[in-house]
Amino acid sequence: MNVSELPLEESALRERVKELSCLYSIAQVSGSPSATLDDILQEIVTMLPTAWRYPGSAVARIVLDQQIFSSSAHHPAGPSQTSPLVVRGVERGNVQILYAQLSPAHRDEPFLEEEQRLLNEVARQLSLIVDRKETTAEQQRLQTKLQHADRLVTIGQLAAGVAHELNEPLNSILGFAQLATKVPDVPQQVLADIARIEAAALHGRKIIRQLLTFARQKPLQDSRVNITQLVRESADTWLARCESSGVQVEYVLDDDVPPIVADESQIRQVITNLVLNAVQAMLTGGTLRIETSVKESYLHISIQDTGTGIRPEILPRIFDPFFTTKDVNQGTGLGLSVVHGIITAHQGQISVESTPEKGARVTVSLPISHPPEPVRTRGATHDKTLC
Ligand code: ADP
Repeated sequence: MNVSELPLEESALRERVKELSCLYSIAQVSGSPSATLDDILQEIVTMLPTAWRYPGSAVARIVLDQQIFSSSAHHPAGPSQTSPLVVRGVERGNVQILYAQLSPAHRDEPFLEEEQRLLNEVARQLSLIVDRKETTAEQQRLQTKLQHADRLVTIGQLAAGVAHELNEPLNSILGFAQLATKVPDVPQQVLADIARIEAAALHGRKIIRQLLTFARQKPLQDSRVNITQLVRESADTWLARCESSGVQVEYVLDDDVPPIVADESQIRQVITNLVLNAVQAMLTGGTLRIETSVKESYLHISIQDTGTGIRPEILPRIFDPFFTTKDVNQGTGLGLSVVHGIITAHQGQISVESTPEKGARVTVSLPISHPPEPVRTRGATHDKTLC
């Protein structure tokens, strides 16, 4: 063996060992099921420089969408090599090694050919990690959505059963209470008590009606609906309530919105339910802003208030059936779950933004081009009464 070849072989072997340990570490880091994608990328970027020839001067950077992960706060402007991050055919960023303060002897050829190959392999591994993590997150999201839909069905059935069972005895209570008032010479005190019984029974009956409508499945009655016009026509429904609550109404309505295929009465319920929530949240008056607009093939209806806002800890629960923070007479907790059911049936989306003590904004987005699914709402007819 030629003695002069030995150091070269040794150095090639050393490079290969570094390469393999780098890929092994990536496999280990990405294998942790509890680590977030951000944690994994940060850990990988931190250890990447050790696999390059001059680890002391190398800085690694991973760019994914708008996010940048770096092994150092310092961003050198020296020589660099890059490999793109392509996730499922879409270029989403890159992985890069940059050098700073290289000695003049190393400046001419700072990178080995093997290092570009290693970087390409790192980029390929990173793309697989991103893909895997995003697929898992999407599966979890769908799972949660399915569980929510399942829960709605179960609760709907339960609600219908309970409501039917309670309806009869409540009607009897009401009927006999009314009969009792007809008996001659009933003392005033007893009459006052009977009136209380009647009022409580009536309140119970109102809740039962809401439960029954919540549980009822109703096919969508599709027609072409102009949402801006619908808001204008419905305004009378909430005007009196707003006036008596010291709430000013501002309209920012786009008159050029295209008509969409939707169930008009259900969309009216959505708007009414959202407006009532907004008005109820403005305990000492405020401003209600109702906006319609079109953006990216979606029609948006946004209801904004200057009320209490929604506390972050209850945000995940506001669409749950029967979740309410209101007094018994004020809320049943069905309004938003009905809104959710209707908008899902229309293949739309709902987003909620809230700043505690400043107000909330609920935006409903409906697709312009797609007609709604034919039949599939739960509790679609629950309408909040504004008066
Ligand atoms: P309900 O109004 O009968 O309580 P909803 O399902 O409509 O039922 O709303 C659930 C909960 O979400 C409310 O009790 C309230 O805590 C919260 N919420 C909804 N809209 C708003 C809003 N605009 N501002 C503040 N809180 C809101």
